[in-house]
Amino acid sequence: MVSFLTFPKGGVHPPDAKELTADLAVEEMGLPAELEIILAQHIGAPCTPTVARKDRVGEGDVIGEVAKGLGVPLHAPAAGVVKGFGMSAHPMRVSAPSLTIKTDPDAPARQYQKIDWQGLGKEELLKKVHDAGIVGVGGAGFPTHVKLNPPPDNPVDTLILNGAECEPYITADYRQMLESSGEIVEGARIILKILGIKKCLIGIENNKPEAIRLMSEAAAAASTDDCRIEVRPLQVKYPQGSEKQLIQTLTGRKVPAFALPSAVGAVVHNVSTTKAIYDAVALGKPLYEKIVTISGKGIKRPANLRVKVGARLSDIVEYLGGVTPELSKVVMGGPMMGFAVSSLDIPVTKTTSAVLFLAEDEIDNTPHSQCIRCGWCVEACPMGLEPKEIGLYVEAGRPEDTGRFGVFECFECGCCSYICPAKRPLVQFARLAKMKAKHQ
Ligand code: SF4
Ligand code: SF4
Repeated sequence: MVSFLTFPKGGVHPPDAKELTADLAVEEMGLPAELEIILAQHIGAPCTPTVARKDRVGEGDVIGEVAKGLGVPLHAPAAGVVKGFGMSAHPMRVSAPSLTIKTDPDAPARQYQKIDWQGLGKEELLKKVHDAGIVGVGGAGFPTHVKLNPPPDNPVDTLILNGAECEPYITADYRQMLESSGEIVEGARIILKILGIKKCLIGIENNKPEAIRLMSEAAAAASTDDCRIEVRPLQVKYPQGSEKQLIQTLTGRKVPAFALPSAVGAVVHNVSTTKAIYDAVALGKPLYEKIVTISGKGIKRPANLRVKVGARLSDIVEYLGGVTPELSKVVMGGPMMGFAVSSLDIPVTKTTSAVLFLAEDEIDNTPHSQCIRCGWCVEACPMGLEPKEIGLYVEAGRPEDTGRFGVFECFECGCCSYICPAKRPLVQFARLAKMKAKHQ
């Protein structure tokens, strides 16, 4: 029996539930009448608008910039007129500043021509990535040009592309790998050139054989003596796609607590971010639309949609024919790391990869009970933390004492909550402990 690569500690095996959308090709969603664009779409400083009310904007025009500090510009996802500024519903905060564009349905879509990027130097390539507003689209939205320029004291030798897509339900990266394998691999070559290195490993979970085949073919076609790109099939295990676990799986190197991947010579980018890098450099196209998986038994027509940033969840629901009577819960992101939302006014951002409309039988509403000290959460934690102690201390009103159980290394993967037979909300306990510590 072939044994596939994986990380050594913890992890869980939730049902992958990808069959609802895995075979559905990416579909262009119709243009909504309005786009509500949140000004803080990345880690760092929010954008300041560079447009005023009633200004006319073209598709791809800059509409916001970060004057000082970490960040990237924002672009108009479609042509139209700036309707105004206000506050938008937000999945994690209650609300966030935004600007609204009334779209022009008659404006032709902007066309982008392929350019030859091979002659460009590192600084020119980095500027293109920054100017196109690229952030990590599969996670927290860290500005990509910064990640592509790691500190010189830690020489990097390996680029890792994350094609694991280990969260249940989500198939956006999978479709991207099937439909754009050549562009993703060209994006990898751009990154290799920026980093000045030759080796790229692409990790894909073994439940995606067609993606492994197509990406392997594209990688073989693009590899030369100066650039080695290889696909590595991975064992199906959650959270295989998390940065530290993926690095350890593919290189055997363990990223120390609180250190960056570059501390062990690696840089990791998601495959969809790599496609966005290709778009920015090879086409000059900014990041203003996203492939989003819309799934669950609570939506009439599940789909993988290409959606403009700023489209509201209500626009998506309307486009897909509405919700079903079984709908019980809406989650932005996957079921393991996503956030339940109570409003369909929330707009899509650069980091939205899925919206799940879940029916009663797709969620677990069992009330939680006392810890029975079975230790399963400790075994399941990929970071080797002690979730049960974190939970008990938070319940006892002592969140400040959870640091010694590793709460600051918790990346909220949800393995502990998933495995707990007492259904204890261990991720929420960890989140609460970190929030309290931050306030103190
Ligand atoms: S959510 Fe945090 S504590 Fe729980 S398993 Fe993941 S890393 Fe460990
Ligand atoms: S899995 Fe749940 S019940 Fe078991 S030790 Fe952890 S918190 Fe307690």
